[in-house]
Amino acid sequence: MARVFNFSAGPAMLPEEVLQQARDELMEWKDSGMSVMEMSHRGAEFMSIAGQAEADLRELMAIPDNYKVLFLQGGASSQFAMVPMNLLRGRDKADYLNTGSWSKKAIAEAKRYCDVNVVASTEESGFTTVPDAASLAFSDNAAYVHYTPNETIQGVEFPYVPDTGALPLVADMSSTLLSRPIDVSRYGVIYAGAQKNIGPAGLTVVIVRDDLIGETLEGTPTMFDYATHAKAGSMYNTPPTYAWYLAGLVFQWLKRNGGLEAMGEINRRKSEALYAAIDESDFYSNPVEPKARSWMNVPFTLADPALDPVFLDEAKAAGLLTLKGHRSVGGMRASIYNAMPEAGVEALIGFMADFEKRHG
Ligand SMILES: *Cc1c(COP(=O)(O)O)cnc(C)c1O
Repeated sequence: MARVFNFSAGPAMLPEEVLQQARDELMEWKDSGMSVMEMSHRGAEFMSIAGQAEADLRELMAIPDNYKVLFLQGGASSQFAMVPMNLLRGRDKADYLNTGSWSKKAIAEAKRYCDVNVVASTEESGFTTVPDAASLAFSDNAAYVHYTPNETIQGVEFPYVPDTGALPLVADMSSTLLSRPIDVSRYGVIYAGAQKNIGPAGLTVVIVRDDLIGETLEGTPTMFDYATHAKAGSMYNTPPTYAWYLAGLVFQWLKRNGGLEAMGEINRRKSEALYAAIDESDFYSNPVEPKARSWMNVPFTLADPALDPVFLDEAKAAGLLTLKGHRSVGGMRASIYNAMPEAGVEALIGFMADFEKRHG
């Protein structure tokens, strides 16, 4: 068996230790006589797995007590609707920042429920930067402000947290949650699909401040009401038990490895090394303004796009997979989430230099 370095944007690599533990526990979890997949979600065993995962996530992120942590399904895409349904609370307007493909999707969905005020957009620049913090003027009558701290497709990341005053700040952190420490108290809602940096697909983590729960838009489906899941400990219906368990193993792996401080250091080093390699070469380029470059998703293009398929073939032969860029951007994209070891980034940089020597 030869595991590759997988640069997929999501579902993405998982830490090898986590997969090994899952393999060891696959047929029988502890002395339960069964796999986690086969357990009742209401049984003592799974309840302990679920509770430990939540406790570990709270500890890793230092989540304050007045926030609920929900383990849901439906992906980040369902949150595009759940956020307005739960957060409008009698108002009819919300502020959105438009900084890439995922922002646009969130905006399109929110428009079904309220007036969307686009406070700032970087679409004109081809989504290659973020707006200046000082330029942001939020509405005083908006119900909330929504933004996408890391745009997975464009590789654009906010180097700051927008200051929204009393307005609840909502963040789609699908591709950046757990990549470094954050101050949860700055946010009203944080949500993330798990398949980027948390665990396998099928699980969506939502961290929501207590006072934002309980007043939904008329007609909101029961399953789309945060209160339903907050009251039931995310067990109103059958949760994605195996994905929840695997996310819990990832949280324990993070704790064993220095937590989010240590992760942040490693992620900063990985991304700096890769951007340096791109910038030092005339053969590769990245269009994103340096201050807004993502630590997690690094798009780059080759000077001659005709070489793209050759690059991908040779990279694959070298054990470097899933480097094809998103169809809307073209070129390449290396997603280097927590589970991508520094050795993987070094191998990519070495391969890129060698490829340039032979084809540049
Ligand atoms: C992947 C991604 C999504 C979509 O997530 P799903 O879980 O597939 O719905 C939304 N926002 C961002 C920033 C993403 O990276």
